[in-house]
Amino acid sequence: MVKSLSIVTKINLVILLVLAVTMSFIFYLAIEAEQAHDEEMFMMQATGLFQQIEIARHWNSRQGGVYVYKKPGMKPNPHLYKTRPAAGKARVIEPEITDSKGRKLILKNPAWMSREISELSKSEQKVIYHLTSLNPINPDNAPDDFERMALKSFETGNKEAHKLYQNGDAPFFRYMAPLKIEESCLSCHGFQGYKVGDVRGGISVEIPIAQHIGHADERMLRIAAYALVTYLILALTLTLTVRRFVSKPMKKMIEFTNGLEIENEALLPSEGQSDEVGILARSLSETRKRIQHQQMTLREKAEELDLSRRTDPLTGANNRQHFILEMPKIVARANRDNSPTSILMVDIDHFKEVNDTYGHAIGDRVLQQMVEHMIQETRSYDMLVRYGGEEFLVVMPNTENQHAVVIAERIRKSMEACHCVTAGDKTVLYTVSIGVYTTLQEEIDQMLIKVDDAMYRAKEGGRNRVQNSE
Ligand code: GH3
Ligand code: MG
Ligand code: MG
Repeated sequence: MVKSLSIVTKINLVILLVLAVTMSFIFYLAIEAEQAHDEEMFMMQATGLFQQIEIARHWNSRQGGVYVYKKPGMKPNPHLYKTRPAAGKARVIEPEITDSKGRKLILKNPAWMSREISELSKSEQKVIYHLTSLNPINPDNAPDDFERMALKSFETGNKEAHKLYQNGDAPFFRYMAPLKIEESCLSCHGFQGYKVGDVRGGISVEIPIAQHIGHADERMLRIAAYALVTYLILALTLTLTVRRFVSKPMKKMIEFTNGLEIENEALLPSEGQSDEVGILARSLSETRKRIQHQQMTLREKAEELDLSRRTDPLTGANNRQHFILEMPKIVARANRDNSPTSILMVDIDHFKEVNDTYGHAIGDRVLQQMVEHMIQETRSYDMLVRYGGEEFLVVMPNTENQHAVVIAERIRKSMEACHCVTAGDKTVLYTVSIGVYTTLQEEIDQMLIKVDDAMYRAKEGGRNRVQNSE
């Protein structure tokens, strides 16, 4: 099937295919860039949130925790009772105190504050913070798989970790960065053997991204639609351009070359183009002119050849070959029209003597002169034939016998009166004997016998005379 396609269609298909692959690749790159941009945006948002909570924690930690009035139902952080500074250092943390007026206050340390902010944030903004450690004081702060891996990687120097994940139907972006021990942390965590700068744990931030993903999907669809429309426009433009500038001119040229032998002067529409197609069209046009010129020359040569095949070179009269070819047609026409055909046989009297006396060249002049006379005395549609050496036939279609005799007589007289051939200072005189035969329906051979017979009777009758076969 591919083999039967035109080369232009094949090139067109290849270009369209390459275009489709290129467009798909560009589309793929655009999606990649879009996804990278989204991830960068999630990262910025997550790091921002992380930094905010980290600053809040620093602030809290540097105050040595913040006391708030105890409201009903409020309990101090039970895990604070498990904390203490490094061995030998005085304990400064009191989870619960009473002021001078007897009011109870409880300590909100950074961990407790983080937990409460996380719960608030989860309910109000759907952003989840999770404080965690490989060595948690509060067992609720034990890490999940992602957090454990991230925490381990922080111990080897990594600065952050992130991933996109699906929680049920909802997509989330998760970010985590380490929390490092500061001097202020040691009042609670000193007993765990940490030094300033050690990774104490980390905070993971989870951002719901379903809404953004929805928008991103819409953007992808829009990009895909743009890409498709662009491709269709390009493909259509390419196809129409190729058809307009290549396929159509090619088709015209093929039609043109198929009809080269026909005399056609019409220009190819693409001859005005300055591109390769135009060059090819002009070259074809030139070829056509050359072929037409050669055809004309050939036709002329064929006509010349035909003429030389049918005429006598000395006198220009038709030769016996022409008579053989044409006579049957004249007879057939006469038979069809039931019209009489007359035939004259004209023979020069004592021509041998003319040759012997004046030479062959003068004899030739006499023959030529004689033909000129006969042409003058006959009609254009009569057929003059040099039938033998000095014997001529005049075939006269649709001519009654009396009329033929009159014409024969005119010929004879014009020869007799001719003083037009000279040999030196002498005038060459010559006469002719003419046999006349007229028939309505006769075989050609019979006609020739009859007219020959009449001519011989003219000779016998004394020459320089017309003898009717009647
Ligand atoms: P007749 O009156 O009985 O016809 O006598 P004739 O001499 O004309 O007849 P014959 O048949 O004896 O001679 C014909 C002559 O015609 C002989 C030949 O040399 C001459 N002849 C034939 N063809 C040509 C030609 O092409 N050129 C010349 N110059 N002479 C020719
Ligand atoms: Mg003769
Ligand atoms: Mg003769």
